[in-house]
Amino acid sequence: MAGGAGIGNGIHTPAYIGRFAPSPTGALHAGSLVAALASWLDARAHRGRWLVRIEDVDGPRCVAGAQAVILAQLAALGLHADETPLLQSTRGEAYQAALERLLAAGWAYPCGCSRQDVVRALRARGEVHPRHAELVYPGTCRDGLHGKPARAMRLRVAPALSQPDTALDIAWTDRRLGAQHQDLSHAVGDFVLKRADGLWAYQLAVVVDDAAQGITQVVRGADLADNTPRQIHLQRLLGLPTPAYLHTPLVLGADGQKLSKQNGALALDTREPRLALTALREAGLVLGLQASGNDVTAWLASATTEWRARWPG
Ligand code: GLU
Repeated sequence: MAGGAGIGNGIHTPAYIGRFAPSPTGALHAGSLVAALASWLDARAHRGRWLVRIEDVDGPRCVAGAQAVILAQLAALGLHADETPLLQSTRGEAYQAALERLLAAGWAYPCGCSRQDVVRALRARGEVHPRHAELVYPGTCRDGLHGKPARAMRLRVAPALSQPDTALDIAWTDRRLGAQHQDLSHAVGDFVLKRADGLWAYQLAVVVDDAAQGITQVVRGADLADNTPRQIHLQRLLGLPTPAYLHTPLVLGADGQKLSKQNGALALDTREPRLALTALREAGLVLGLQASGNDVTAWLASATTEWRARWPG
């Protein structure tokens, strides 16, 4: 029963619902196709549903027309979604409701610090950071704005409100990477939920939307693995279920970094079926698949069988 709840042997398990969540900052390239393909294969191998969510929450980074290009590429690659794509730009009310719950519970607080303020406060404590590193917020506005106007909204990261300076270790098991953990307090600190420019932060949007869409399995690129503890923590605070996670291998650019437009990723050309098949084969190799087939449909069927054998359950 496609997409049905597993009710065999008396145990009720939720139906599989997976997703691919591209940011419309450009066309799909060889790297983003790996995540798209893996999430589609995992959903199909589990006879689950596969959704597409357009993560256009960061308006200024979005590129006009990219959403239509990505959807056309997915269609040419035979990766068809089971529902109309959800657009994060339509979800502001849901993000606001989640923020208000966190504010009411004392977990979220307004912050008046600019990046410069954060750097200065860290320097004053003798903590020097490399220029472009993510800064671990020193907690300046935790107990009030000190007369500054509110800029961003942050999440207080601690195991309990009564234990403000205590490590918060989040452990999770990735289906490919195995046991993982991160001390959120020290590795990340109080992170942003709503930015100073009024835009919703990825962490809050992704958690609210994964829950709203009933996502049970997140399959995405390994560059996002270290966001997972922040997302699990937010799920717990908001009383939302935690999906299973599988982070796929990355395709690297010539500079050894994750392939991106900045280091030479070319938009996938899927205008001819032959090119779409080549793109799928290459993404399949990154995922360790030997699938065969002379057209997109046959190749995807072969890859689904192979995936099912590899990732049973
Ligand atoms: N929108 C994110 C990206 O394109 C993916 C988010 C996710 O899969 O959680 O990198």
